[in-house]
Amino acid sequence: HMVTIRYADGKGWYEPRVEARAPIPMDPASAVLHYAQEIFEGLKAYTLPDGGVAMFRPDANAARFAQSAQRMAMPQLPVETFLQSLREIISIDRAWLPPGDEGSLYLRPFAYASEVFLGVRPSMEYLYLVIASPVGPYFSGGVKPVSVWVTPDYTRAAPGGTGAAKCGGNYAAGLSAQAEAIEHGCDQVVYLDAVERKYIDELGGMNVFFVLDDGTLVTPPLTGTILPGITRDSVIKLAERAGRRVEERPVSLDEWRTGAASGAIREAFACGTAAVITPIGSVKSAGGGFTIADGGTGEVTADLRKQLVDIQRGRAEDPFGWVHRVL
Ligand code: PMP
Repeated sequence: HMVTIRYADGKGWYEPRVEARAPIPMDPASAVLHYAQEIFEGLKAYTLPDGGVAMFRPDANAARFAQSAQRMAMPQLPVETFLQSLREIISIDRAWLPPGDEGSLYLRPFAYASEVFLGVRPSMEYLYLVIASPVGPYFSGGVKPVSVWVTPDYTRAAPGGTGAAKCGGNYAAGLSAQAEAIEHGCDQVVYLDAVERKYIDELGGMNVFFVLDDGTLVTPPLTGTILPGITRDSVIKLAERAGRRVEERPVSLDEWRTGAASGAIREAFACGTAAVITPIGSVKSAGGGFTIADGGTGEVTADLRKQLVDIQRGRAEDPFGWVHRVL
């Protein structure tokens, strides 16, 4: 199915509908096709041990959607409308929820400029939609460390750009970088900052953490060039609650390389909705490659992953009220 809600300047959001999923007719001059005024979110619904269905921190997705809308000169969708649209798609597509406690129903809310015109200015009409898609476990047969390629050629976002917004254009710009990573035999691309080309920003679709030898977690700060990941925020809150030190500060590729060699950085992991937490086993860059410890899954990474997945799946206490029961 799909949820649709229209928007027009002067009228606001109108005509909310839930209907069978079908192609959306589009005029060739629809603004989004030319200027990419589009934003989206991604989150999962999944089955709890008692058979109920939950979403993880959908209010955080609503808040980020609002931030993205602001950056892309788009109208604000009320938070309650956003949450209600997710509840509707889950209840109508519930049969699509994979059984068991590993698979989930991926939810994709998005909005785009639907006005028909060729000038460059914010659109005066928008369409908001939600679709859902069943996904299996990200790792079948156990968590597997990923290999990453640090691209010397591309940056993801510059100061003042759209790096902190979840807009389609960011991902279009990243496709060549991801292709480069695959050509180098790596799973994922890592971006360096656009100004000094020195500090680690994030992966193509995940934020990054480093574990120091004393157990401190370090992650790049939210300075506007990286996506404020909801998993990133959850990891920080969980770690701090457990008394672990967390530093949000720049980490250079050099610090990572020398730290991995000396043992000052003993683990690294990436995090995001899709994989939750993924160990980073090896790094390749124009200046050479290195592995992190033995290239396997570190203890802190495995522990944080287990804690977070157990909360999400309703197997552990939910101290922050993150799990939103829907059905
Ligand atoms: N960075 C980028 C570029 C992403 O696309 C994602 C996935 N949304 C993330 C980080 C992780 O964000 P989240 O934890 O909210 O999924």
